[in-house]
Amino acid sequence: MFIEEIGHKKYDIAIVGAGPAGISLALGLVAHTKARILLIESGTLEINPEIHKLSEVEASGDLPSDYYPTHAQRVFGGTSNVWNGLCVTLEERAFLNKEWAIDYKDISAYYKDAAEILELREESYKQPKMILDNGTGDLIYKPYYLSPPVRFCDKYFHDLSAHRNIDILLNSTCTKIISNRSMVTGLLIKESDCTSISSYNVKAEYYVLACGGIGNARIMQLGGISTKSPVGKYFMDHPHISGTTSVELDKETIEPFLVDGRVIHALQLSDKCCLKNSILNISVDFGINSVERKLFMGRKRSVYVSDAVIRAEMAPSVTNRIYLGEQIDALAQEKTRIHFNFNYQSLAKTSWNLFAQKLLSSGIGRATTPPEFFHDIKGGGHYIGTTRMGVSATSSVVDSDCKVHGIDNLYVAGSSIFPASAAANPTFSIVAFSLRLANHLAMRLRGRNLL
Ligand SMILES: Cc1cc2nc3c(=O)[nH]c(=O)nc-3n(C[C@H](O)[C@H](O)[C@H](O)COP(=O)(O)OP(=O)(O)OC[C@H]3O[C@@H](n4cnc5c(N)ncnc54)[C@H](O)[C@@H]3O)c2cc1C
Repeated sequence: MFIEEIGHKKYDIAIVGAGPAGISLALGLVAHTKARILLIESGTLEINPEIHKLSEVEASGDLPSDYYPTHAQRVFGGTSNVWNGLCVTLEERAFLNKEWAIDYKDISAYYKDAAEILELREESYKQPKMILDNGTGDLIYKPYYLSPPVRFCDKYFHDLSAHRNIDILLNSTCTKIISNRSMVTGLLIKESDCTSISSYNVKAEYYVLACGGIGNARIMQLGGISTKSPVGKYFMDHPHISGTTSVELDKETIEPFLVDGRVIHALQLSDKCCLKNSILNISVDFGINSVERKLFMGRKRSVYVSDAVIRAEMAPSVTNRIYLGEQIDALAQEKTRIHFNFNYQSLAKTSWNLFAQKLLSSGIGRATTPPEFFHDIKGGGHYIGTTRMGVSATSSVVDSDCKVHGIDNLYVAGSSIFPASAAANPTFSIVAFSLRLANHLAMRLRGRNLL
């Protein structure tokens, strides 16, 4: 139900933020429980420029201040209102390397249902490993599948607002988490457009933050939650490089692997290769529209000639962080400050050099531009790592269930929980993790006759 005020109602679960993470969580919960859910969204159904200003930050480092709000939409459906729909499962490298507190199978089981939410075809979650060079197994073909793209507001607002167990509050910004030492006892909510200056309290049994990779850490910082943990630290994005590098690929070898339909073709180093060489991965997108017949690597062949679009995995760094600044926003809260550098040059050289070397030695193709040409690195608008998952309460923020360490009823959804960025775009995995969290909360609700 779409509501304007909640009175004294108490909910089973309050979800803050209605982007892909929050909406997928709500969908997962209503599918498996009778829980009474409150979905709190800062924006309305259309972008309101005044409300959108609440996403403004002060930034230093490689990306300017206006980069961040453009990539954090304050509207029902969140940033899915502008996303491009590229979907791919996370690589396993960081799971095998124990950077995650869970095994890969703990999340891969949820990609099937995530694919349904994002309207992706079956192969998107089956992702057979297509090893290109059967000699070493170092290079793989791993295409990106394309969601239409699903705009979560258009697709899900009507059904969610008609559902009897869901209440939706729009134009409502959570400004503070109220807690005692081990429990959240309420959320302070203000009207985002400032038509009223008063605030009110929301009460629930469990609380989930789903405010995007910047918003999740910010709310925790505003509430003084988990101050001994690295909240806001290890902020990551995906460095993107395009227009400066190109690849040539032997058509005869590559063609049998190519997936038809709405995909973006991409090559990667295998997980095994990355682990063996202690490097992070890169994903190299290529096109197949331009084919040239030419002398190539010793014989006449048909060759795909394409610009390479590189999307890189980024190492977590404690110096890349978000924290509260001194400026104040329209709701009288400290604005977020972000310090971020790609710190990418050395990583790019290592990963790209190895990729180019493997491509050449496999006889499949060659990369034609040297890494010195790497400049003009862009971000992907993927905000990752600020409430990282881990085992220890001092070196991570959430545990393997996405619950904030030491607080029994506070959870986090979205790519802020990723301890490693992978090279993969995040949203497919964000949705999968939300469905996993829905499953976990359903278990906790068991025994209260809510299933
Ligand atoms: C141009 C662009 C293209 C992209 N393309 C791709 C792509 O091809 N593939 C891919 O995987 N990803 C892509 N992304 C990234 C993708 O959009 C995000 O990964 C995804 O939207 C994150 O979902 P989320 O729900 O965690 O956060 P968001 O979508 O940011 O949603 C967060 C929600 O929380 C609300 N909120 C924030 N603070 C508060 C508060 N205090 N109180 C109440 N509500 C609050 C916001 O209004 C918003 O609705 C792209 C992003 C951009 C900008």
